[in-house]
Amino acid sequence: MDFRPSHRAQTIKSSPIFSISAKAAALRAEGRDVIDLSAGEPDFDTPAHIKAAAIEAINAGFTKYTPVDGTPELKRAVIDKFARENSLSYTGEQILVSCGCKHSIYNLMQAMLDPGDEVIIPAPYWVSYPDMVRLADAAPVIIKTDVERAFKIAPEQLRGVLGEKTRMIVFNSPGNPSGASYTPAEYKALGAVLAEFPDVIVVSDDIYEHIQWTGRPFGNILNAVPALHNRTVVVNGVSKAYAMTGWRIGYAAGPQKIIQAMHKIQSQSTSNAASIAQVAATAALNGDQSVLAKHCQAFKERHDYVLTRLRALPGVDVVPADGTFYAFPDMGEFIQRRKDLGNDVKLADHLLERANVAVVPGSAFGAPGCIRLSYATGLETLEKALDRIAAALT
Ligand code: GLU
Repeated sequence: MDFRPSHRAQTIKSSPIFSISAKAAALRAEGRDVIDLSAGEPDFDTPAHIKAAAIEAINAGFTKYTPVDGTPELKRAVIDKFARENSLSYTGEQILVSCGCKHSIYNLMQAMLDPGDEVIIPAPYWVSYPDMVRLADAAPVIIKTDVERAFKIAPEQLRGVLGEKTRMIVFNSPGNPSGASYTPAEYKALGAVLAEFPDVIVVSDDIYEHIQWTGRPFGNILNAVPALHNRTVVVNGVSKAYAMTGWRIGYAAGPQKIIQAMHKIQSQSTSNAASIAQVAATAALNGDQSVLAKHCQAFKERHDYVLTRLRALPGVDVVPADGTFYAFPDMGEFIQRRKDLGNDVKLADHLLERANVAVVPGSAFGAPGCIRLSYATGLETLEKALDRIAAALT
């Protein structure tokens, strides 16, 4: 029997984030006191009113298939959310509910990419974008940024990679793993370049929308450049904002033709997202929103703490983030000094072995020399983790 995986399965790797958090969990199961700062998952519980809505749905027998694109109630809640929070207007045909924002992006790439197509991805990027592009037989084209450029791409960099083969560009702001966010003026400058390429689909991954402290209201590229409306797909979900990672509800909004193609892919794969989780997500979007500011405030406090601690370490270059719950220090100078550690992958291994702290190496995000620490965990744990990191690095 030949168990050779398909060429698609062979061209990609497992998500390094989940591989590292699985390793941390395995070590903990063996009795090791490992602090896991790998996966980005809010430590807060899902708010009580959201859980209550789901329990009620189960008891009422709301446990069957729903329409592929989501329940009418959740789609309405998504449309209202876009109008209320983002000043964006959509019809029901322009919305697709999926099993997490990750699934929305996957559907989009499966629906719109062909062999030979290129997708522009600014680095550092969320680990799954390039492999999702490869799974659609297309090619990721990476634009490099670094800590000096606050991890943001410049218009001339964008102009340099746009071409006949470009089919799509992905924006994620505030961004995972850098925490950087684009200003409206920066978006306008990038939008001016994109205006020369009217066939390029723009993806705005807004999943960290509610975790930002820029001092200005959240705005994506579509808010800054409304002319992109006919070719922008906005993806978002309830995971990060409402501490609902396990419920797996995300959604996409965009031109009807794109959404229809994504709908077709989803109808032949997962069908609808879980009926019960959809009721919970409806309660999240329609209910009390005070939890958003509360969570954001906690993340900001943790950000400030982690930043101060990282800045005190020798050879570590770190800039304040605008949002998310990740710190992304550049460890280049430190690695140079400690030749035995060689690179960010070895450094992450060293931190796991010596400090019992799990972090993700920057290479996974297209930024070798950096490491990512998730601070979606309590201050007490962070203090312990940073004490251990400091001891292992000095
Ligand atoms: N997006 C989160 C992270 O970057 C969760 C894991 C994932 O889906 O990649 O840690």
